[in-house]
Amino acid sequence: MTTRPEIHLQFAPELRLFVPSERCQGRTAVRTDGSSSLGHVIESLGVPLTEAGRITVDGTPTPRSHVPRAGESIDVYAVERPQHIPGAPLRFLLDVHLGTLARRLRLLGVDAAYFSEDIGDPALATHSAREQRVLLSRDRGLLHRRELWAGAYVYSDQPDIQLRDVLGRFAPVLAPWTRCTACNGDLKEATKAEVSAHLHGGTERSYDVFAQCTVCERPYWRGAHHARLNAIVEEAVRDFGPTSPTSPTSPTSPTSPTSPASPTLPRPAPRSADA
Ligand SMILES: [Zn+2]
Repeated sequence: MTTRPEIHLQFAPELRLFVPSERCQGRTAVRTDGSSSLGHVIESLGVPLTEAGRITVDGTPTPRSHVPRAGESIDVYAVERPQHIPGAPLRFLLDVHLGTLARRLRLLGVDAAYFSEDIGDPALATHSAREQRVLLSRDRGLLHRRELWAGAYVYSDQPDIQLRDVLGRFAPVLAPWTRCTACNGDLKEATKAEVSAHLHGGTERSYDVFAQCTVCERPYWRGAHHARLNAIVEEAVRDFGPTSPTSPTSPTSPTSPTSPASPTLPRPAPRSADA
């Protein structure tokens, strides 16, 4: 005869959106199969394990591999912020619905891979594993995939809030204006002659300071969208610094939007309104 022990779980407020509403009022009773781990039980209730932090059993911190026994009282907390992902430099992979967030992370110099076409959940998860990237998604099913190297649920559908969510959760080092918002490549300083083939006549006449992507060769300059993009950068650096020492907006070498171009990079603005 199999025994089906009854346990009592309570989820942190941040995790309750994943759990059926009838299980959100205080502790919820669950009968397990007697052999599944705590991690499996939590996941089966809808909570991606990427979002589960500390777990306690009768008040004692306990690993996810624990097989719960009858009568245990279990608390599941959200991940701690900032969350440290061990094993590789912090890099991200964003699902197809998070294009604006990807461009904003790149604007801040954060390594953010993104495929504009839907390559499918298995391919995304495999890419996360191969390149050791933290997969950012609003798709809970995707975050349940076993192949994932690491992942995180993006809680909002608003790019402004998404950006603050990711910066607050992972505290990546910021290096604004160093990465191509179109392809994630590194930018380098460029002369007008180097980028002239990519410019329209008006742009070539109006600007003198350029940068260029080392991968896709897209040119950057401080164009019409600079003020709006600069506002995103300034807010992120103010609230989620520090920045990389090589970044033009490093606290040790402050520059204002009206100051001359930094010696490191010309603080270019992407040529189109795509952030
Ligand atoms: Zn590029």
